[in-house]
Amino acid sequence: MKIGCPTEIKAQEFRVGVTPAAAAEAVAHGHEVLIQSGAGIGAGFEDADYEAHGARIVGTAKEIFDAADMVVKVKEPQAAERKMLREGQILFTYLHLAPDPEQTRDLIDSGATCIAYETVTDDRGGLPLLAPMSEVAGKLAPQMGAWTLQKANGGRGVLMGGVPGVMPARVVVIGGGVVGTQAARIASGMGARVSVLDRSLPRLRQLDDMFRGEFETVYSSKANLEMLVREADMVIGAVLIPGAAAPKLVTREMLADMKPGAALVDVAIDQGGCFETSKATTHQDPVYEVDGIMHYCVANMPGAVARTSTLALGNATLPFMLALADKGWQQACADDENLLNGLNVHAGKLTYYAVGKALGLDV
Ligand code: NAD
Repeated sequence: MKIGCPTEIKAQEFRVGVTPAAAAEAVAHGHEVLIQSGAGIGAGFEDADYEAHGARIVGTAKEIFDAADMVVKVKEPQAAERKMLREGQILFTYLHLAPDPEQTRDLIDSGATCIAYETVTDDRGGLPLLAPMSEVAGKLAPQMGAWTLQKANGGRGVLMGGVPGVMPARVVVIGGGVVGTQAARIASGMGARVSVLDRSLPRLRQLDDMFRGEFETVYSSKANLEMLVREADMVIGAVLIPGAAAPKLVTREMLADMKPGAALVDVAIDQGGCFETSKATTHQDPVYEVDGIMHYCVANMPGAVARTSTLALGNATLPFMLALADKGWQQACADDENLLNGLNVHAGKLTYYAVGKALGLDV
């Protein structure tokens, strides 16, 4: 099969869909890999790195889309890319169709077979192609929060780990899933005193067993949350209710009781955010202040570390990409229900129920 990887054209996207290591594996499986010149630059990969692994460099996205049996990307195809998709072609990338009727219509019209990273599942009910980005965002959150806490950035001027004789920062993580666990680990590793709140007692038990008291686990009742937020130097929002907007757990009223200059890092901003005062920000202008509390609400946090994010995503997508290339999409999806769950659009039809429900379209 011919596997093609164009340069990402969405603003501020520096990741790339195929790493040189993934290209090497595909070539070893007998496939031809076409990479658009410069596609890997944002993630620190030169054209020569791909060529050294047997991939062929081509000049334009059009050459990729014209030649490839399967196009592998990171972000949803932009309008110009959607025009180049064709019947029978496989598109393997993040799609996020539910809030995007225009893209959905274009993909249906293209006749292509579109498999979305975000709906591929694993045997434990997890989302293996979303998890690596949650891990990245979780590990970044305390780092960004620590920067926000610095005086020059509007923060309280508190050092995460304190120093001998001075208390460390008090960090509260709301949600103990993938993001929250990584955030708690890093904050605790930086020397902060950390509490993790979750609604799921089994999850809190699991965290307690795994981390043996490295951080406290607290049931996420309204009273517990209010008490901990009042004492916090940093609050990290990491809740997710699948398929729903994030609940507004920290209200504007609660900000008045917080320590002035405390930092809120709302990782859940891509689902609307779990602080009432959150609005999405960018890497260029990541922090703003409301009632003396500093808010960091960047919606695509993994973009800050494009190289790590590309490598992490590439590790997770590789087995699925190889299965699709080796067997063709029909056989690969017939053999693996988890991959089949990724199928969102095929041959002019929407094939994913939740997207149809969200957009009022037939499935
Ligand atoms: P997850 O499903 O692994 O974890 C979410 C956790 O929230 C679960 O353990 C759940 O029990 C808990 N929860 C639900 N309601 C709660 C409540 N009221 N109080 C406390 N905990 C509650 O999800 P995840 O992968 O950790 O993702 C968390 C959020 O981060 C999602 O919205 C995800 O889209 C987002 N995210 C954002 C970025 C970014 O760049 N901003 C990157 C990756 C992920």
